Amino acid sequence: MSSDWRSKNKAELHRHLDVSIRPSTLLELTQNLGLESQSTSLEAFKKKWILTKPLKSLDEVIDAFTIFQKVQNNSEILERVAYEVVQEASEEGTTLLELRFSPSFVTQYSSLSWKEATDAYLRGIEKAKTKFPKTKVGLICIATREFGIDSVAETAEFYLKNLSSFIGFDLAGSEIHYPCKMFESAFTDLKKEKKNNPKIHITIHAGEVTDSQNIWEAIEYLGAERIGHGIHALDDKSLIEYLIKNKIHLEVCPLSNWLTQAVSDLQEHPLPSLLEKGVSVGINTDDPGLFGNSMLSEIDLCQNTLKMSISQIDQCLTNAIHSTFLPQ
Ligand SMILES: [Zn+2]
Repeated sequence: MSSDWRSKNKAELHRHLDVSIRPSTLLELTQNLGLESQSTSLEAFKKKWILTKPLKSLDEVIDAFTIFQKVQNNSEILERVAYEVVQEASEEGTTLLELRFSPSFVTQYSSLSWKEATDAYLRGIEKAKTKFPKTKVGLICIATREFGIDSVAETAEFYLKNLSSFIGFDLAGSEIHYPCKMFESAFTDLKKEKKNNPKIHITIHAGEVTDSQNIWEAIEYLGAERIGHGIHALDDKSLIEYLIKNKIHLEVCPLSNWLTQAVSDLQEHPLPSLLEKGVSVGINTDDPGLFGNSMLSEIDLCQNTLKMSISQIDQCLTNAIHSTFLPQ
């Protein structure tokens, strides 16, 4: 079944590049740093690091990200990570790929500047694009909620200064502790510039583990054109109507939502219901380095666990294509 989907062009809009390191590379890098024993097998390593059962909360998942930060400590490694991610996506037939990363997060344990990290990822992407020219790739700049309002404002400024490196801007991290409205002031310049510049795009992680209020705030205070996750929109009839009317796309990540317990029962995932109501929803992997998933495994999950039809899945892939920040 998955081989049919492999040959179909696919679009993914929500994948964290900094948490997408392939397991064999992550093992090699942790061994080089002495964080993992030289005798550890790939199978044992995968068992230890790849989540197969839900953690207690999204906060716990965010804690597990530290290893990804520690190993990405120089430009060559970032370049390699980006190259391998594009290669893997291309090999499973993803022809439109939006990758995102947080400059503040990925450089937290290294001496790399935000610009050096961005340029290293871009070099890896460019190198991969010459080898796998069918796959179009764009990079989204993330501001991390946990680093506070000043850091988010600084990231927005960094994004505006480096517009040619990015296709959009995002806010991620714990939305329970850091709701969208809190960051309104950090988005002032960004929203102002956006009015005159069609290249500026905003997506916001919201409504993943909180209710629909945070999605309203992402749109109203932060200028979101797309929402990362947004699954709790389902509980709010007027928001559903607003999302449809204003063509606001939800970047849905089914397996991720179960592993972080944003959804307690995977079979009850709201993706099919959102689609049936007419919301533009897509299918995404979120953090494959931690979840061990891929676009093909997510599609398989949609088909076999969420019982979605082939045409429903096709609709999700088309929705993603129509909602990309990449220039058409
Ligand atoms: Zn995400």
